Amino acid sequence: MKTNYDVVIVGGGMVGACLACALAQTDLQVAVLEFSEPQLSWPEDSVDLRVSAISVASQRIFKAVDAWQYMLDGRVSPYRDMKVWDSTGNGRIHFDSADVGMAEMGHIIENRVIRAALLKRIEEHDNIHFICPTSLASWYNDDDALYLTLADGSKIKTALLVGADGSRSQVREQAGISYYGWPYDQSGVVAVVETELPHQETAWQRFLTTGPLAFLPLADGRSSIVWSTTPDAAENLVAMNDEQFCIALGEALEGRLGAIMTTTQRAAFPLKLQHAEQYVQERIALVGDAAHMIHPLAGQGANLGFLDAASLVDVISDAAQQGRNIGSLKVLRRYERWRKGGNVSMMYAMDGFKRLFSNDITVVKYLRNTGLTLADKCAPIKHRLMRQAMGEEGDLPRLAR
Ligand SMILES: Cc1cc2nc3c(=O)[nH]c(=O)nc-3n(C[C@H](O)[C@H](O)[C@H](O)COP(=O)(O)OP(=O)(O)OC[C@H]3O[C@@H](n4cnc5c(N)ncnc54)[C@H](O)[C@@H]3O)c2cc1C
Repeated sequence: MKTNYDVVIVGGGMVGACLACALAQTDLQVAVLEFSEPQLSWPEDSVDLRVSAISVASQRIFKAVDAWQYMLDGRVSPYRDMKVWDSTGNGRIHFDSADVGMAEMGHIIENRVIRAALLKRIEEHDNIHFICPTSLASWYNDDDALYLTLADGSKIKTALLVGADGSRSQVREQAGISYYGWPYDQSGVVAVVETELPHQETAWQRFLTTGPLAFLPLADGRSSIVWSTTPDAAENLVAMNDEQFCIALGEALEGRLGAIMTTTQRAAFPLKLQHAEQYVQERIALVGDAAHMIHPLAGQGANLGFLDAASLVDVISDAAQQGRNIGSLKVLRRYERWRKGGNVSMMYAMDGFKRLFSNDITVVKYLRNTGLTLADKCAPIKHRLMRQAMGEEGDLPRLAR
């Protein structure tokens, strides 16, 4: 094993793997440390319970790192429309990708397909080493570099250590970077279901006062669902038999896709908001869920992470070209300044939506239903919201342009 790298990424999940692929296009030597063996193959007819709505900007990043074709070889499902409505009134809004001159609003892709495609690209590059299973035991910062010790006792020297190790980030914790946040009184129940009526390549979302219910269209005609609800109700939904669950789900969507014919088993994920106080320190940077975790109601968490990865690559490749130290705080601050504001805005926007639609006060219900209907009729507002969801707004990194 090599012992000297320019960049060491802890975490080879979707965001860490994406960062590694983007760095593969530089001359930098990169190691990815991952502690669990990734799933790289699966039975043809099985579907991952975890899927992500991937924005147009993230798709561009995947294309730029030549991973998109591998995702197409796996399975991707375009969605062209989105229908959102409130359970407490007549408020509704319909987004149609054609209105902003796009063929689709994005794609629904299984998380394991995204990750396997990126890991396949990593394998094709000599300057990226995926080291698994392993984990980081400790590190110390010296004058010239960071010195890491892995769990098996081996030593690595690096100019930059990136935490892409998810919401319970070891890198963030060991660096002493604090975070703020709060648990939502909700868990997200996920499953893959077959519906009586076709999904029409449309994402359907109904806001219930207990949380939003989303149906995301899959290529095989089924839908992946994320049902955010109280932790007790989530536990119940997971424990129900399939028939009871199908009936409860069909009713919660008001029968918009007819009866729910079949379902897979379910899993529930506790939802929370979390944000690191800093994204960088001397020779340390955080990306993806290690830096921020948001409510999944608009499917933006991983998309923000991919933009973090692409932005960090712009910053460090510019610095490397200018002969600057890629781990210096001055260089890394540019990454933090670039990403933090947009991530915080998205995080609070999702938090605001979650609170607005969970509110049972009559006047709030009236205002949100009226607001939805007015926004539906106001093309400029609607188009702006769509461009934001597609990741088209703001200062995009080179790979996402
Ligand atoms: C129900 C639900 C639905 C969602 N839907 C969407 C969506 O539609 N669109 C979207 O954009 N986002 C969505 N998200 C958010 C998205 O899933 C996350 O933002 C994304 O998975 C974060 O990826 P990550 O790589 O940063 O972290 P993770 O996925 O947590 O990956 C971290 C990786 O690091 C490894 N690791 C951790 N610690 C260590 C260590 N110490 N040493 C070595 N390796 C380590 C782990 O094994 C893992 O592989 C959803 C989230 C939920 C809960």
